[in-house]
Formats: sequence, C-alpha cells, structure tokens
Amino acid sequence: MLLSRFFVPVLKENPKEAEIISHIYMLRAGMIQQSASGIYSWLPLGKIVLEKITEICRREMLKAGANEILMPTLQSAEIWKESGRYEDYGKEMLRIKDRNNRNLLYGPTNEELVTEIFRTHVKSYKELPLNLFHIQWKFRDELRPRFGVMRGREFLMKDAYSFDVDYNSSIKSYNIMFMAYIQLFKKMGLKAIPMKADTGPIGGDLSHEFIIIADTGESEVYVERELLNFKDSLTNINYEDDLQEKVNKFTSFYAATEEKHDASNFDNKNNTLIKTRGIEVGHIFHFGQKYSSPMRATISDRQGDNIPVFMGSYGVGLSRLVGAIIEANHDQNGIIWPSEISPWDYNIINLKSGDNDCDNICLKLYNFINNNTSNVLYDNTDERAGAKLARADLIGLPYQILIGPKGIKEELYDLKCRKSGEISRLSYNELLNFVQMNA
Ligand code: ATP
Ligand code: MG
Repeated sequence: MLLSRFFVPVLKENPKEAEIISHIYMLRAGMIQQSASGIYSWLPLGKIVLEKITEICRREMLKAGANEILMPTLQSAEIWKESGRYEDYGKEMLRIKDRNNRNLLYGPTNEELVTEIFRTHVKSYKELPLNLFHIQWKFRDELRPRFGVMRGREFLMKDAYSFDVDYNSSIKSYNIMFMAYIQLFKKMGLKAIPMKADTGPIGGDLSHEFIIIADTGESEVYVERELLNFKDSLTNINYEDDLQEKVNKFTSFYAATEEKHDASNFDNKNNTLIKTRGIEVGHIFHFGQKYSSPMRATISDRQGDNIPVFMGSYGVGLSRLVGAIIEANHDQNGIIWPSEISPWDYNIINLKSGDNDCDNICLKLYNFINNNTSNVLYDNTDERAGAKLARADLIGLPYQILIGPKGIKEELYDLKCRKSGEISRLSYNELLNFVQMNA
C-alpha cells in the first residue's frame, strides 16, 4: 500500500475525550471515528486489524469443529419472552418497533435466536454434538460507554453455542471451546488468562473469563503468580481428543475475577497471590438446560426420551480486542503491533521523497516486498522526515526501513525494529534476504 493513497487521518494532538492509551492511539492513528456515544466507524487502519483478529478467531472456531452461520442483528421480541429474558434484560437492550407495531430488538447476545434455529431442525441425539457460531455486531445500551472500543455500545463479537445430549458431553464441548480460546488468543500474540467467573445475565453453573492483564482493565482479578508466568507448550490441538487434562493444566492454578474470588480457596503453600487488573476479552458459559427448557428445544436421547438439550455459549470481544492488544503493546511513541495481527510487516520510509536515488531504491524495494508478501506500507509522501518517523512509530508496524541520502551514499540502509528500537544497517541485498527469511 502506498501511504499517499491510504486514508489514515492521523491526529497531531491527544484527543481530549480519550482517557486511556489505546483509545488515544486509536484516534490519533486514525483507526476509528466516533459516530455517537459508544458507536464507531472503523477507518482503514482499524478495519484491517479488526479483520485480522476476526480471521484468527474464525479459523480456530472452524478447526474446533464449529459451524459458521450469520444471524441478523435485529431479533423478534417473541423468543426473548419465551426465555423470560425480555423483561430481565432491562435498559441495556435496545428495543425497536417496526411499522406494524411489532417489537424488535437489536441483539445484545444470541442464545434465544440460536436455540430457535436449533429446535426447528434438530430432533435427535444422533445429530449431536453441534456447535454453531457467528461473527456479528451486538448492541448493549451500556450505562457508561467509555474507553473507545473497549466498552462500546455497538461492538463486534464472535459468539458460539454448543448443543449436547447430556451433561458430560456438554462439558466436553465446553473444554473444546476452552482450549480453542487458549489457542486463538495465543495466535493473536496475546496472553489471555482463563479465570473462574461469574455468569451474570447469561446464567449457568460453570464459566471462565479470558483476561489480558493491564492496569487500565476494568476487572479486578486475583491470580497465582505461577499462572502469570505459565507458558503452555501446545502448538496445535487435536479437538477430537479428550481435552480435560489440558484444561486442568490451566484450571489447577488459582485465578478468579473479583466476584468469584475467595481467598480461602487459595492454597498458598509456595505461591503468591497477586491482585491486579485486567481486560475481559472472552467469556465462556456452561448453562445446561437454562434456555432449552423454557424454549422447548428438546431432542430424543439414547433411551428415546425427549429432553431439553444441554447448551453452552462462548463469546470473544473482537472489537474490544483491538483496544486490549494496544493496551498490552505500546510505548510513549505509539502502538507496537504483534506481528500476528499487524496491518503490514514493513513500513518503508522515504526520508527524501523527490530525490531520484531515494525514490528509485524505495520503489524497487516496495515492488520486491509486494511481490513476495504484499506486506508493506510505503511512505512516499513529501512530508518532513521527522513527521514521517513520528507517524511510523505511532502506526507501529514491526519493521521500518529508512531510506535517505546518507544511506544511499554508504549503500547501507537502516532497518529499525519497532519493538526493541534496535537499528541494523544492511545492504540492499541483505534487506532482501531479511524480508525473504522473515516471510
Ligand atoms: P463485561 O463484563 O465487560 O460487561 P459481559 O460479561 O457483559 O462483559 P459477555 O456477555 O460475556 O460480556 O460478552 C462476551 C464478550 O464480549 C466479553 O468477554 C467482551 O470481550 C465483549 N464485550 C461485552 N460487552 C462489551 C462492550 N460493551 N464493548 C465491547 N466489548 C464487549
Ligand atoms: Mg462476561
């Protein structure tokens, strides 16, 4: 991508309305624009990152055997009356009337709708287990929308729903999602820690939140130090295996959100309990027959009896993740994208656009990387070098390649690692090698 063609409306000043660093940087780097309180447009840079995060999540869901569907944002109030949540959900639910005076709502979550789909088509245990997921915008009329996309009113969620014939197999399905979450956050370059959690309005008996440790997080959490340092060695998971043992590796540590914290459950023989803060990026629930009972989503079991199906639901806050990843990866100059979700790997910066030699080398390099990996943003604008460098740091691509008259003279060019700040001076061929090795 040529920066001269790229719509990235960078702000020079810190926006007044932003309180936390991810919100400040997302506005300053031209990633989002507020449209109403807690409602945002995603501009190109933001959209690319959101898409990368979404794709990683989607891929892991499919690997774990889930089926992608797409349910609408608007739902009929009828099914919510069946489950009993129409009244319970209160003011967070955006209620709408259509021209025929029928009650609709903008979905804050999809347990009811997916249960309706299920009960229409699935009648027998033979068709189970089944997992349906979708990636769709949700609306919750939050009391205090804040921190940009972290607590929005409209936000993008991946939500999956499992259906099983009995308690034991539904725990298996829960474990599959638990491990899929461990994997998908890791693939985003993140460490998300599973913690025992409260079930809130979704309900149920077993629940974990996945939390990224960050001072600006809204959740107070209690974690055993060991778990903070714990690195599992799993690379890929066979989702056909029994995953209980793998799940136990994580759940044997003490980790709980404030609501579930009980110091008497913490065995402190050799360990330290740490109280810290974090951002909830995922939440999984096992709630058995809570919705299938009132909504009569029944199946015939092995004995031929009709029973309400056992369910769980599994959410990932995809738009919140963009903010959360920035909270966990930045410095005073801007964002530092983990390479896994970075919009591009390389930022070529022409320090003297208009200079023939600089333009030629930059263009040659740009074409080379484009042909190899398409993974490059080229700052070909004619702004001052200082402004270009500051913008490159703000946008935060993993590698900057700086091409200026001095480098041309010495035939050595600066390759700067955004994260460490380290600069290597490489010849043109060494640069090409680096790109190829890194691809
Ligand atoms: P929170 O406790 O943060 O209000 P929740 O428990 O109500 O979240 P869930 O119903 O578990 O949220 O939704 C699944 C995921 O969706 C959450 O883990 C979170 O990452 C994301 N999410 C929830 N509410 C918001 C919001 N207002 N803005 C952005 N993301 C959200
Ligand atoms: Mg939650």
